[in-house]
Amino acid sequence: MACTMTPAPAHATIHRPDTRFSKEVIERSGINLNLCWNCRSCASGCPFYQAMDYGPNRLIRLIQLGLWKEALESRTIWLCVGCNTCAVQCPNAIDVAALNDTLRVMALERGVVIAEPDVLAFHRSVLDSIQSHGRTHKLEVMLRYKLHKKNFFTDAGVGLKMLAKGKLDILPTRIGAVDHIRRIFQQRKAA
Ligand code: SF4
Ligand code: SF4
Repeated sequence: MACTMTPAPAHATIHRPDTRFSKEVIERSGINLNLCWNCRSCASGCPFYQAMDYGPNRLIRLIQLGLWKEALESRTIWLCVGCNTCAVQCPNAIDVAALNDTLRVMALERGVVIAEPDVLAFHRSVLDSIQSHGRTHKLEVMLRYKLHKKNFFTDAGVGLKMLAKGKLDILPTRIGAVDHIRRIFQQRKAA
């Protein structure tokens, strides 16, 4: 049977992806994304796959194709909880959690739209608490996050139950070497 497909014109050009973004991600994360086979083992094990707009394998493909805005504005990078299930299942031990750490930093640096601002607010609440006390103070983290959400009453019952069971300290405790921790934050801001 004769082939009905239209042949590509002789002058057709193949556009190669812009590799500058993937090179920067590889350099900053220390993770060689070029080892990815797109086998999807990572996606099949990820507990948050259903909520993500791109599975970990597709996120890697976006980076390889130079689609930096799609990658940095994805929900995936904020919904990843760093459980490392994907890295354990990956035949090439690609550390997607560390990759997402790098992509979150790059998203903030480039000022792109943050797909999950509440997750960012929660990260900031935790980091502010660590900067103040050298460790997290759960009640403070919850209150800082509630302040961001401007919603103090949702989950209030859960918070009260935790307080009643002694699961939440009213006052924070501070580690001895809190100055060392604060210096790390200052160095990070100065960098
Ligand atoms: S499991 Fe590893 S090799 Fe397979 S798609 Fe995911 S990151 Fe790529
Ligand atoms: S580390 Fe992130 S991407 Fe990997 S399985 Fe856990 S939530 Fe999914």
